[in-house]
Amino acid sequence: MTKKSIKPDELNPSVRTNDFSEVLLGYNEAQAREEAMRCLQCKNPACVAGCPVGIDIKKFIFQIVEKDYRAAYLTIKKKNNFPSICGRVCPAEYQCRKACVLTGKGSSFASERAINIHLLERFVGDWGMRNLKDGNTVGPETESVSGKHRDAAAVVGSGPAGLCCAGELARSGIKVVMFESLHKTGGVLRYGIPPFRLPQEVLDFEINYLKKLGVEIRTNVVMGKAMTLDELFKDGFSCVFLGLGAGTPSFLGVSGENLCNVYSANEFLTRVNLMSAFKFPEYHTPINTGKRIAVIGGGNTAMDSARVALRLQKINNITPDVNIFYRRTEKEMPGRRPEIQHAAEEGIKFEFLVQPVGFEGDKEGRLEKIKFLRCRLGEPDSSGRRRPVPIEGSVFEKKCDIAIIAVGLGANRVLTKVTPGINVDKWGDVLVDPETMQTSLSRVYAGGDIVGGEGTVIEAMGMAKKASAAMIKCLRP
Ligand code: FAD
Ligand code: SF4
Repeated sequence: MTKKSIKPDELNPSVRTNDFSEVLLGYNEAQAREEAMRCLQCKNPACVAGCPVGIDIKKFIFQIVEKDYRAAYLTIKKKNNFPSICGRVCPAEYQCRKACVLTGKGSSFASERAINIHLLERFVGDWGMRNLKDGNTVGPETESVSGKHRDAAAVVGSGPAGLCCAGELARSGIKVVMFESLHKTGGVLRYGIPPFRLPQEVLDFEINYLKKLGVEIRTNVVMGKAMTLDELFKDGFSCVFLGLGAGTPSFLGVSGENLCNVYSANEFLTRVNLMSAFKFPEYHTPINTGKRIAVIGGGNTAMDSARVALRLQKINNITPDVNIFYRRTEKEMPGRRPEIQHAAEEGIKFEFLVQPVGFEGDKEGRLEKIKFLRCRLGEPDSSGRRRPVPIEGSVFEKKCDIAIIAVGLGANRVLTKVTPGINVDKWGDVLVDPETMQTSLSRVYAGGDIVGGEGTVIEAMGMAKKASAAMIKCLRP
């Protein structure tokens, strides 16, 4: 038996940074079967408990061994409508892989021996995309949505939470209308995660599945501006799910943050990923690309911003110079290790234990330099990570043309602000009953990042599944 998990192929850094091609190539059939054969087929598979949507992991891995990929596809689809998405973006090292018996007890991170469950899921999902021409209609038995049930549900937000909830409801024969404020569906999957990690065709394929199930999608509708929740109910919807997400950027609160060429990560990524600014002027959204780019932060959003920025420089024939500045050390970085590693391989530089204290610009108001203070690590804070403590008198400057601030995201509040009686906490996150995901309002449910703040794709889907189960009960007592 192979000791370590099979490594998937990936594009060489010097090739992959020339455009937005997918970096990780995934398993071919031989690799997938070799990896699947490493699975011990445990009597009590611990991995399943590590999956927020409860995929029968042991079963679909066995079906790969048996070369019955269609069966494996259906096994996954029973619990997860989006295998090709989750197989690419799930932080499996903290979830199913960490729980895999091959990791060993008490580890906070998957070991190299743990089965690469997410890559096997991706293999099966991609097999479905390629081989089942109407693959997105193949799924667990669906009931007709042709007016069999007069009740209809509204889903607000088309990120992973909204998509998952809509899929579950539609599979139960409930008429679903999904409202999205942007002109395209997918939420962070579309505007945040760059195509070199999640190609848009994969997202489109998975979302198409919902359309085939009968979900009606209405884009360019900002709920709370175009319509209120009351109006949705008056319009005949019997239940509403809120998957509003957390897309409001946090800032540092230091001087000069409003200078030209200081972007929030959300604006930067949205311009490039959603609005195709990297193809300007073919697409109408511009983006500035300077010689020296600074990214502030240490999470997934910072990694994505830096890697997008580096590709933009290369596309524009600028020698890449992208630096990530983080106030703690590498150990405390919240970003996924594979993403940090990919960023480093691509030539992104890291500077640790530094905190920006001000931005300075030229006469035209364009960013010229950033002032930093050096930090040391103090006692752990509420997150368990050691707190950065600024060192007095350690101020220094860095010349810089573009700064991207990636220091956190808060709740999207447009709808909740105009909804009387909905309980939110001090950050604007919606409060719910954790069993049913019902909000303080009758027949209104919520899930994903709007509940409890920034999380992961599969966690958002896990909440949406709970909510949809409660909504189905509510619609069919
Ligand atoms: P979102 O994806 O934010 O979707 C919410 C949707 O609701 C949006 O489309 C928004 O436009 C819409 N909306 C909001 N208000 C309204 C309104 N009033 N009317 C109509 N529509 C509205 N997680 C991972 O698991 N793996 C990763 O690799 C990963 N990488 C990430 C990279 C970045 C850059 C970011 C920002 C996050 C990343 N995450 C990752 C986190 C993950 O994307 C989120 O946890 C997840 O998208 C949350 O899903 P959601 O459906 O709750 O919200
Ligand atoms: Fe296979 Fe690991 Fe799950 Fe056991 S815990 S069934 S080895 S994936």
